[in-house]
Amino acid sequence: MFDGAMAEVESFTLDHTKVSAPYVRLAGRKQVGGGLVEKYDLRLAQPNREALPTAALHTLEHLLAGYLRDHLEGVIDLSPMGCRTGFYLVVEGPLGEEKVLVAFERALRDVLLHQGPIPGASFRECGNYRDHDLEAARAWAERVLRQGLRVQATVPLEEA
Ligand code: ZN
Repeated sequence: MFDGAMAEVESFTLDHTKVSAPYVRLAGRKQVGGGLVEKYDLRLAQPNREALPTAALHTLEHLLAGYLRDHLEGVIDLSPMGCRTGFYLVVEGPLGEEKVLVAFERALRDVLLHQGPIPGASFRECGNYRDHDLEAARAWAERVLRQGLRVQATVPLEEA
């Protein structure tokens, strides 16, 4: 029953002023049934300093949905962060940050080399099919690869 207190959300306990994008961070692990589910932050842009335009983020979502699965087993879901600074990745674990980082790098290289139409970006397949920008998606992939991905440890918010 709802008692007025919201459940604690892991990402609200991360100090977003103490991270350095672009990075991969293990945000949580949970035992589900017989398996282990892991959640990762794939952060492309520095929080509160920049954000991806929606069309670039949306196109990256469509491309990474396939390319990340090409390089990583056990992908359950990849979803854009509402703040437009990156993606949440949910996988069957345990995978570990290094493996995720390498797969993410490879998938971003695939985005750079992508030819032809954006997968799933038609009127029937997508919820906002006009809001895509392949050039901007490529530019962000290129930028992240140039900057270099790192593993970010969790820096908890200190009690005020
Ligand atoms: Zn879409």
